[in-house]
Amino acid sequence: MKKLIAGNWKMNGSLAANEALVRAMLHGLKGAAPAADMALCAPAPYLAQLQALLLGSPIAWGAQDVSAHEQGAYTGEVSAAMLRDFACRYAIVGHSERRQYHGETDVLVATKAQRALALGITPIVCVGETLAEREADQTEAVVKRQLAAVIHAVAHCTSEIVVAYEPVWAIGTGKTATPEMAQQVHAVLRAQLAAATQHPERVHILYGGSMNAANAASLLAQPDIDGGLIGGASLKAADFLQIVAAAQ
Ligand code: PEP
Repeated sequence: MKKLIAGNWKMNGSLAANEALVRAMLHGLKGAAPAADMALCAPAPYLAQLQALLLGSPIAWGAQDVSAHEQGAYTGEVSAAMLRDFACRYAIVGHSERRQYHGETDVLVATKAQRALALGITPIVCVGETLAEREADQTEAVVKRQLAAVIHAVAHCTSEIVVAYEPVWAIGTGKTATPEMAQQVHAVLRAQLAAATQHPERVHILYGGSMNAANAASLLAQPDIDGGLIGGASLKAADFLQIVAAAQ
C-alpha cells in the first residue's frame, strides 16, 4: 500500500499564498513518479481554488472538518454534500483543535465520519492523547475510546476510513513522538481495526505531530505508520515534498 501524506493547512493561507504554494509543489513534483499519495486539506473557502489548481494533478484535496448534519438551519456549517460539490476526496474529522476548542465529542466526531463516508468522502479520523493523559498512562485507553466511537458508527465501512494518530502534545510544538512511541500506538490501533474489519491492512494509519523533513523518514519506516498528517510543514513546498520523498 502506498503511503499517504496529507497536509493540514489549518487556518492559514490566502488566494495568493495558496496559489504560490501549490504551484511550487506541483513544480517540484514534475517528472518524477510521486513516492506517496498526497492530499492538501484547506479552509473551506479555498476548496474551489484547490480544485482548480489540483484537478488532474497527483495531489488530492480535502476539507478540515465537515458538519454532522445533512443540511438546514446550522449557521456556519459546511455539509458533506457541499464538500462533494468541490470534489473533496478527504475531510479531516476530530482534529484535536476541534475537540479542544469546539468541544467536539467522540460521538459527534463519529457522526461526522459517517456523514463524510455517506457522500463518498474519506474521513481522516484524528485520535490522540494529551500530555496529562500520557503521563497518567491513559494513551491506549484514550485512542481506543476515540476510535471505537467511529468504528461503532461506520461499522462495515471501517476499512474505508483513514486514521491519524496525533498526540496532542506533539502538535505544533516541535515535540515529536519517537518512532518507537508512535509505532506502539499505531500497532494498538491496527489491532483494534483488525477486530472490526477483515482488511485492517488497507486502512492508512497516519502519524501527525511536528512531522518534518528531518524526522519523516524514521517515522515512516515503522511497520504500522502508513503516512503522515502534516501541519506546519505543509505550508512550505520544499518541506512537504521532502516528507513525500521520505515515504519511499
Ligand atoms: C496537525 O495539525 O494535524 C499537525 C500534525 O500539526 P503540526 O505538523 O504542525 O504539528
